[in-house]
Amino acid sequence: MSIFDSALTQLNNAARHIKLPEGLLEKLQQPERIIQLNIPLKKDNGKIELMKGYRVQYNNDLGPYKGGLRFHPQVDMDEVKALAFWMMIKNAVVDLPFGGGKGGIEIDPKNLSVKELERLSREFTKFLAPNIGGGMDVPAPDINTNAKIMDWIADEYIKVQSANLPVGKAGCKVKSEKTQLRAVVTGKSIKNGGSEGREQATGLGGYFVLERLIKKLGLKRPVTVAIQGFGNVGSNMAKILYENGYRIVAVSDVKGGIYDRNNTGFNIDLVRKCKEEKGFLAGCYCIGSVCDLAKKYEDGVISNQDLLELKIDILIPAAIENVITKDNARKIKAKIVFEMANGPTTAEADQILNKRGILLMPDVLANSGGVTVSYFEWLQNMTNKKWSLKKVNNQLKKKMETAFTKVWQISQKEKVNLRTAAYILALERIVAKT
Ligand code: NAD
Repeated sequence: MSIFDSALTQLNNAARHIKLPEGLLEKLQQPERIIQLNIPLKKDNGKIELMKGYRVQYNNDLGPYKGGLRFHPQVDMDEVKALAFWMMIKNAVVDLPFGGGKGGIEIDPKNLSVKELERLSREFTKFLAPNIGGGMDVPAPDINTNAKIMDWIADEYIKVQSANLPVGKAGCKVKSEKTQLRAVVTGKSIKNGGSEGREQATGLGGYFVLERLIKKLGLKRPVTVAIQGFGNVGSNMAKILYENGYRIVAVSDVKGGIYDRNNTGFNIDLVRKCKEEKGFLAGCYCIGSVCDLAKKYEDGVISNQDLLELKIDILIPAAIENVITKDNARKIKAKIVFEMANGPTTAEADQILNKRGILLMPDVLANSGGVTVSYFEWLQNMTNKKWSLKKVNNQLKKKMETAFTKVWQISQKEKVNLRTAAYILALERIVAKT
């Protein structure tokens, strides 16, 4: 089953529990618009190579399309469609005035110099410029994209669009409108209009949801955790959990992981420091994504596959999709699977985990803290305001806890798992606007 088909299975499961207006289900089974690009990248040696780029604008019933940009060799249309679909559901679950979108370039950025990466990001923006904007479609970071790339995109977009701005009294372009143009992307650096707290938002939002879940379940502390993926989401989540007394006994990145067999848990500050010292992508544009931690720690090496099957309380996939499949779902020993990556569990694996009584917190709620603070950033740009970190985190906590409570209540009332409950909530909100 393709990733997109797997995503539609989740939609169809939920649609059985809610009365939808005729034709709406069919409408939600297809993206509204697909943009496919061949982006010319001028390499440092002067050669031009064509890169495949995508933007899927899935649905805008609730507001402008919203969702990240991924730079990864496995990016393809099926994946982008699924990711855009999940953004539609996620934004509705957490009650944001956004629809769903996603994009990406099929590229391994580790093979590019910083200059090449910048040229590629700017060229992509020029191609997309007529179809993105604060009121139309608002991209953000995802795998292998970060604040620096978002800054390049915002800068290029402003250059392209500034020519169209009205001229003020002193003959200058009207400043407030120019400031609003920055709302074309979120996840920017603070100095370029980014929000306080965006960097940690996905991990922190996950933590707020996890705390509520643990209380509901009465899970005994200290809680043991394994995390697959140690980039923005995985490493921030690890740090927050560590600081709050959770025992992080295994972490991994694309090269493999480390495992503390004593179950006492790693000092995540040291792990992050090690990764910062050693990890780099091309030109170090994204320090912290790849690092051979195993050499630093003698606790032991663990493969990404084995990490998933550890006997722990909570398993957090925070890397890529389709890592829990029908082949390994029967071997998962965690009590809770907490999906911080998008789409880490296939539809078949979902069923198996469900039958085995393993509780799954779905991606569309667990990792929605990132897009929630993206929304705060967008709001700050549109209104030309600056929020404090305290305000951002307080508002994030409120949003995440409210969404958790609603999903939990639906799950109890309808006697469905948390994924189906989250989809029911999203569908109710979409129906109310259509
Ligand atoms: P990132 O690029 O910062 O980090 C990705 C991590 O996954 C890295 O540690 C990388 O080494 C690891 N990884 C990549 N391929 C792997 C593989 N095959 N096996 C094991 N590990 C692998 O990306 P991120 O922003 O942390 O995103 C991670 C996941 O979270 C993605 O599914 C993304 O869509 C989702 N997500 C991200 C955000 C956000 O705000 N960044 C928000 C919501 C969801």
